[in-house]
Amino acid sequence: MSKNNHPASTFFQKQHTIFRCPICSKQMRVVNAKSLICSNDHCFDISKYGYVNLLSRSVNNKYDKKMFKSRRTLSKSGFFEPLYERITQSVMNRAAFKNEVTKVLDAGCGEGSNLSSILQKINQSIPYEFLGVGVDISKEAIIAASRHYKSCIWCVADLAKCPFYDKQFDLILNILSPANYSEFQRILEDEGLVIKVVPDKDYLQEIREILYEKTNKQHYSNDKTLELFRDNLDILDILNVRYTRILDNALIRDLIQMTPLSWSATEVSLQKILKMNSLEITIDLTILLGRKKL
Ligand SMILES: [Zn+2]
Repeated sequence: MSKNNHPASTFFQKQHTIFRCPICSKQMRVVNAKSLICSNDHCFDISKYGYVNLLSRSVNNKYDKKMFKSRRTLSKSGFFEPLYERITQSVMNRAAFKNEVTKVLDAGCGEGSNLSSILQKINQSIPYEFLGVGVDISKEAIIAASRHYKSCIWCVADLAKCPFYDKQFDLILNILSPANYSEFQRILEDEGLVIKVVPDKDYLQEIREILYEKTNKQHYSNDKTLELFRDNLDILDILNVRYTRILDNALIRDLIQMTPLSWSATEVSLQKILKMNSLEITIDLTILLGRKKL
């Protein structure tokens, strides 16, 4: 059998001790640089693109390739740049750096541009080694991530059953994606940090106004998300990042493509927005910084 020569297979070999079998929780090892195998012989292949699928069954969801491409284009256009800056700053201010590798998990990483952009910024600023691990339940998302961002480990996995040993991560990012706090508690180091990003009330308000005119979907509150975060972690800081971006027609289409807001909109309102030549969009996000309750 041929070996896997993808650069990520070296990553897996070096970092295999963080993984635990998602089926039986046993230790895993890398065999022939191409599979992660546990001591009960549950085997997960490292794909030739450099990701590993640790789901024991396939999951269907509404996210598709087109959506991930749009998400990447939007991210490249600088749409999330101020958010990435603030997160990088927070990490540099808070994280306790050590001589070993600092391990960062992006839980619900999607197509990978958040993790990859943030790590790039951190690496430009400080001389410590960071290892990025991105996890998402969508196989399509992870395939896209592994093809475009080669410097992280990418895994298809269920957050409710994280395929990692206890206390493996120094930092967990959870950006515009659902959390699983019991697993976060388990896999986070005692001194570790959780950075969760949630929409604030004016996030994409222009889109909502057009798509959901006069309905209750026009409004959004993150009170419940905040409460849940507070119940599970000690809050260190709450930051708001608010800015606007003017999008041209192509980027408006990308934004509509990637946001679940469009899924339940009417065809008429969708067409209206897709025909616009430019639109100023508000990005209004809350960054929650938390620490493990000990
Ligand atoms: Zn196993």
